[in-house]
Amino acid sequence: MAVTPTLDEAGVLSRQDPELAEILLGELDRQSTTLQLIAAENFTSPAVLAALGSPLANKYAEGYPGARYHGGCEIVDVAERLAVDRAKALFGAEHANVQSHSGSSAVLAAYAVLLRPGDTVLALGLPHGGHLTHGSPANFSGRWFDFVGYGVEADCGLIDHEQVRAMARTHRPKAIVCGSIAYPRHIDYAFFREVADEVGAYLIADAAHPMGLVAGGAAPSPVPYADIVCATTHKVLRGPRGGMILCGGELAERVDRAVFPFTQGGAQMHSIAAKAVAFGEAATDGFARYTRQVVANARRLAAAFGAAGMTVVTGGTDTHLLVVDPAPLGVDGRVARGLLAAAGMVLDTCALPHGDARGLRLGTAAVTTQGMAEMEMEYIAALVTAVLRGETEARTARAEVRELTGRFPPYPLYTQGG
Ligand SMILES: *Cc1c(COP(=O)(O)O)cnc(C)c1O
Repeated sequence: MAVTPTLDEAGVLSRQDPELAEILLGELDRQSTTLQLIAAENFTSPAVLAALGSPLANKYAEGYPGARYHGGCEIVDVAERLAVDRAKALFGAEHANVQSHSGSSAVLAAYAVLLRPGDTVLALGLPHGGHLTHGSPANFSGRWFDFVGYGVEADCGLIDHEQVRAMARTHRPKAIVCGSIAYPRHIDYAFFREVADEVGAYLIADAAHPMGLVAGGAAPSPVPYADIVCATTHKVLRGPRGGMILCGGELAERVDRAVFPFTQGGAQMHSIAAKAVAFGEAATDGFARYTRQVVANARRLAAAFGAAGMTVVTGGTDTHLLVVDPAPLGVDGRVARGLLAAAGMVLDTCALPHGDARGLRLGTAAVTTQGMAEMEMEYIAALVTAVLRGETEARTARAEVRELTGRFPPYPLYTQGG
C-alpha cells in the first residue's frame, strides 16, 4: 500500500519515525480491508482529518470566542463561532457548545449544570443499554449521583414506558436521562418530556448514537423536548471524536461554564475546526441521503439475520444499529464475535433483554460511508451466517471480506489499489 502526499505530507512521519508511520499504515490497512460493523464507528472525510492534523492543534484557547484567557485567538475564534453557528443551524438549537472533548465529557457537563452530588437520576439501566455515564459504579456518575434504572421489556426489547412513568412517580428524580448505546428504535422524546414535566424533573437526552441521523432528517430530534441534549460528533455524525451540547438560551451560560472552567481546560481548536467541517458536510443533501441509506442498510441486515434464524431484538430497527442473538445458530455472542473477527468482520457483543447470554451489536454507519447498499448487506449477512454456522472457514470468509472491501475503499485518496 502506497501513501499519497495527503496522508503523509512529504513523507515527514515515515522519515522521522518509521516505527510510528508503520503503525499508522497498518491501521489504515486494517480499516480498509476488514468490515467495520461497530455501531459507534464511522469514516470521517479527508477534510475532517485535514482539520484534525492542522496547526490549530498548537493553539491554547481557554474560554470562549471573544473572551479567551490566551492571546492570539482571533483566528481560532472564527473557527469556533463557525462550528457553533453551524451546529445551531443544523439542529435548530438556540445554543450550542462544541468544546466537549468527548461524549462522556458532555454528559458530565450536563450533570454539572442540572444536578448536585447525591441527586436522584432516572436513566436506562446499564444491563438494558444505558451508557457508563448513566450510573455505572465504575464511573463518576454512579459514584456521585443516586441513579435508578428503568428497563426494556424482556419479550420485545422495547423501552418499558409504563415502568418509566411509575419509577418517575416513585423516585421523583431531579433529572431523567433518555439515550442508549444499543437501542435500535427511535426514542419517544415527547413521552419523556411529559413524564419529566409531571414529576418536575429535567430531561437530558444523551443522543450520542442517533445525532447523525437527526442531522440528516432520518430520526426524530430531541432538541425541541430536552432541557439539554448531549451528543458525540463521531458515530453516525461522521465528525472528529468529540462531544457537543445543545440547549435553550436560558441554560446557555450555565452550560458554557460547566464545560469551561468547571470540567475542562483549554479547548481543542483542531478538533473544533474539524467539528465545523463535519457540521458543514452534515447539512448537505448528500448527507441526508447517506442517513436514509444507513437506516435502509440496517433494516436489510436485520431482515436477513432474521431470515437466517437469528433473533433480532425489537424485531428490527429504525436506526443505524441492530442487536441480534445468534443463539439459534448454536453460538453465543462472545464466541460469535471471535469467529467473525477472525474472518475480518469487526463488531461488539452486548447485553440482551432476555436472559444472561450476550448478543451482537452491529451498525451500518461505516459500511454505508464506503458506499455499500442493500445488496452488500445481503452479502454480509450471508457471510456472517455461514461463518457462525461453521459452513465457511475463517480463511475463506476473510478472503471474501477482502474482495468486498477492495471494491469499497474508505479512503481511496490515501491508498492505491485498495
Ligand atoms: C458513545 C456514547 C457516549 C460517550 O461518548 P465518548 O466519546 O466515548 O465518551 C455517551 N453516551 C452514549 C449514549 C453513547 O452512545
